[in-house]
Amino acid sequence: MFYRSCGGSRRGQGEARVLEALRTEVLEANLELVRRGLVIYTFGNASGIDRERGLVAIKPSGVPYERMTPADIVITDLEGRIVEGKLRPSTDLDTHTALYRAFPGIGGVAHTHSRHATAWAQARVEIPCFGTTHADYFHGPVPVSEPLTPEEIEADYEANTGAAIIRRMQGRDPLACPAILVAGHAPFCWGKSVSDAAHTAVIVEELAAMAWQTLTINPQAAPISQALRDKHHFRKHGPAATYGQR
Ligand SMILES: [Zn+2]
Repeated sequence: MFYRSCGGSRRGQGEARVLEALRTEVLEANLELVRRGLVIYTFGNASGIDRERGLVAIKPSGVPYERMTPADIVITDLEGRIVEGKLRPSTDLDTHTALYRAFPGIGGVAHTHSRHATAWAQARVEIPCFGTTHADYFHGPVPVSEPLTPEEIEADYEANTGAAIIRRMQGRDPLACPAILVAGHAPFCWGKSVSDAAHTAVIVEELAAMAWQTLTINPQAAPISQALRDKHHFRKHGPAATYGQR
């Protein structure tokens, strides 16, 4: 990793403003995860990307949320090399950059160990689409990645976590399936922006809790029909969407 001085003269004022806005948005998304009760202590991390410049803004590692400021957000390139910032980036940086490289349509990534979604990840069971709340966000179950091999854990663990996510997502549209449960770990979520990614993380936690309670009430509960799933998903997403205001 290499360092360049923060706010150096090499960057134009316009670019500095864009990065400042991205840092503020990334800080706000990280704080949103705390406000929603999805992260405790310094768990969890969210990042956003400036696609035009190929720059990622990510939470620093191990800094308490109550003391975090936009200046603490670390800027890296798509290979994870530090471009601006005095602090070390989140240890999960290489998972985030792997997702940005593989999914060009996403603009933000959020990772939490929120209780219910993490319980499903630990059970290594995908979250079935039991209702329309789920179908509004996911066109199908929330998938689970394959466990990593000892070799994948030993070397380049975070990059290999990203690779396992990407393998499991093959053939899926990342924006029609905006999260995955990493086996034995926790959810990774994404969206068109970092605030969208944080929103997805909140939704995944809610869907995980709802699905668990659905199965508690009726262990034989079945996923909704494809017709109902399609109706709810495609009225919110895609060219025929009718949800919200024009
Ligand atoms: Zn984690």
